[in-house]
Formats: sequence, structure tokens, C-alpha cells
Amino acid sequence: CGIVGYIGHREAWPIVLKGLKRLEYRGYDSAGISLINDHGLNIYKKVGKVQELENFSAGKNLSGTIGMGHTRWATHGIPSDRNSHPHTSNDGRLTIIHNGIIENYAVLKEELASRGHVFNSDTDTEVLIHLIEEIYKKENVDLLEAVRLALHQVSGAYAIVVMDEEQPNELIVARKGSPLVIGVGTGEYFIASDATPIIEYTKNVIYLNDNEIALVKRDELVIKRLDNVVQTPYIQELELKL
Ligand code: GLU
Repeated sequence: CGIVGYIGHREAWPIVLKGLKRLEYRGYDSAGISLINDHGLNIYKKVGKVQELENFSAGKNLSGTIGMGHTRWATHGIPSDRNSHPHTSNDGRLTIIHNGIIENYAVLKEELASRGHVFNSDTDTEVLIHLIEEIYKKENVDLLEAVRLALHQVSGAYAIVVMDEEQPNELIVARKGSPLVIGVGTGEYFIASDATPIIEYTKNVIYLNDNEIALVKRDELVIKRLDNVVQTPYIQELELKL
């Protein structure tokens, strides 16, 4: 339902948390945030309001300059802590947040399970991160390419953000049928499912098109179509009506 991401030089947690609160108007049943710092990947997720996630996480390790958060509106799997996003790969290294529906998740899940994948939720989303993990390991490609190849096997609608614990300098984002906006800062990028969480930081935004995937680093942005053709980012200036 709601997506917020950050990579840059500031602490990600307060930016992502505030962004999720700005997206609360859309309605949701659970919330979660993942961050990467010196201790690796940290995931906090809870059924209920963003405030409950905040209470639950208080006093925990919330540092890190790369992170992402999600407010979920359950479509597959009941609202619960374990079905909340972010979801992780089998090895716990990759993490994903997702808006939308993976239509062919049941077939993919069966295939992945037959090859040894163990699932920790009832969501369609978790299937996608296991698929990415499998391709990432088997094809010996980078994360952008693994996500791109995985999305070729997926039908449905999605806006996603993927992080790899061992690549703390990049986020991968992609969209088809669900909106995704990239806010362009100086040495930092903001990701969100609509511009509301971004406007207080930057007016310069890129609306990702359907069938586009992007590699987002602190000082680099590469946008490709799913057919691997590199796109020139079109930066728009948001009009702030006060
Ligand atoms: N289909 C996913 C789920 O049920 C994502 C739903 C959403 O857009 O929040 O977990």
C-alpha cells in the first residue's frame, strides 16, 4: 500500500518513519522498516499502526543511512506480524517491500519450495524475494540484473524496493501498475509510492514508468526498462501549492 525508501548521508529511520506517517491516509493494516548498518540488516515490523511499530522499535538499533519502510494493505495472507513487509530471502540477506499483487505467486512458490525454499509468510511478496535470491545466486549477476530477470517471470502489479545486506550502497526499485516516485537530492535519493513523503526534502522528482527498474546509489541513478534498454531520467519539478 505505502512505500518509503532512503539512501544518502542522513539517518534513514526518522525519514522513513515520518514518510510512512505521511502515507497513513491511504489506509493499511501493518507497518515495517528495514535498515542496513554496521551490524548488518535490521528489520522491524508489526501489525497495527505506524505508532505501534515506533513503540516496538524504541531503544533498538535504528541507525543506518539506507532503509525502507512499508505500510501493508493485505491481499494475500492475513494482517499479522509475520505477513508484514519487509520480507526476506531464505538466507536472510535480501529484503523486499512491495505494493500490489503477484498474480502467479502460487506456481512460483510451489517451484521454489520444491527446490528447497522455506517460506515464513503467506504473502505473494515473499515469493518474489526468494525468486530474486535464486537467480542472484545461480546466474552470478548483480542485484539489478537478478531483480530484472526475476520480474520477467512475474505477472501482476507491483512497486518494489529491494535491499541486499552485502550491498549497503544501493537500492533497487521497479514498478508495473503501482506508482513509484524517486526524489532527487544531493548525494541522496528518496523513494515513495507518492510524492507526499518527499516534498519536504526535494522538489525534484522522477516518476518511474511501468516496466522500469532502477539502481539507486547515493550519487548515481540508473534507470532501465525491463527489456534492458537504459532510459534517460526525466526530472520534474513538483509544484508546491501552499
Ligand atoms: N500483496 C501484498 C501483500 O498482501 C502487498 C499488499 C500491499 O499493496 O500492501 O502483502
